[in-house]
Amino acid sequence: MRPATIAIDGPAASGKSTLGYYIAQYLNYLYLDTGVLYRAVTWAALNQKVAIADEAAITTLAQELDITVSPKIQNHHHEEDGRQYTVTSDGQDITWAIRTPEVDGNVSPVSVYPGVREALTRRMREIAAQGKVVMVGRDIGTVVIPDADLKLYVIASAEERAKRRYEELLIRGKRTTYEAVLNNIRQRDKIDSGREAAPLCAAEDAVEFDTTAYSKAEMFKAIIEIVENWNTQGNN
Ligand code: C5P
Repeated sequence: MRPATIAIDGPAASGKSTLGYYIAQYLNYLYLDTGVLYRAVTWAALNQKVAIADEAAITTLAQELDITVSPKIQNHHHEEDGRQYTVTSDGQDITWAIRTPEVDGNVSPVSVYPGVREALTRRMREIAAQGKVVMVGRDIGTVVIPDADLKLYVIASAEERAKRRYEELLIRGKRTTYEAVLNNIRQRDKIDSGREAAPLCAAEDAVEFDTTAYSKAEMFKAIIEIVENWNTQGNN
């Protein structure tokens, strides 16, 4: 027996997406990185010049935006560009557009709005109901699918997370500094953990997974062990 639903939560750049994507491939499960939905709403707001402070307008946007997240398809030139999935908003490919520092800087305030969370959580649950899914986010084990078979809470030091995110942004040619990335990560941690609706925190029954000193290979080995031993840890 293997866990049919896996919930992975943790702060920004903790390694949760890398782990989640890997284990979904390993199990041949659907992978959903739920931060993508909050990012898509944020991107659309910036793109349509809707003020981030306008809660009613942002909430309507979240309710009406046609967001799709589909398993990886190659881009138009049939080249690999490192994507794990393709995200579209009203038909437009926004897979990379949602990964800019502008979106990073505005996504946490957007995700504070209860109406936004309600609209996006509903979509997540529809996807989770199909089973065989690895879902990654901030409140998956606590709010979105509290009955998930396996819950992981992934952490790493803020400095290590900033280092990883900074290197990622550099590779993609974004101009920023390590200090700016560290600041953004600290700021997002604060908003995500302090908000009223579905704050970032570990579910009581989550397994804590600290990736600070782990290489990717070590992380992958550890998660396979957790998944394969799931049945013998008192679950069934
Ligand atoms: O995981 P990622 O960094 O892409 O998430 C972007 C933002 O979306 C987070 O900083 C958080 O504010 C929000 N988020 C959330 N709940 C989730 C996933 C993401 O509030 N389940």
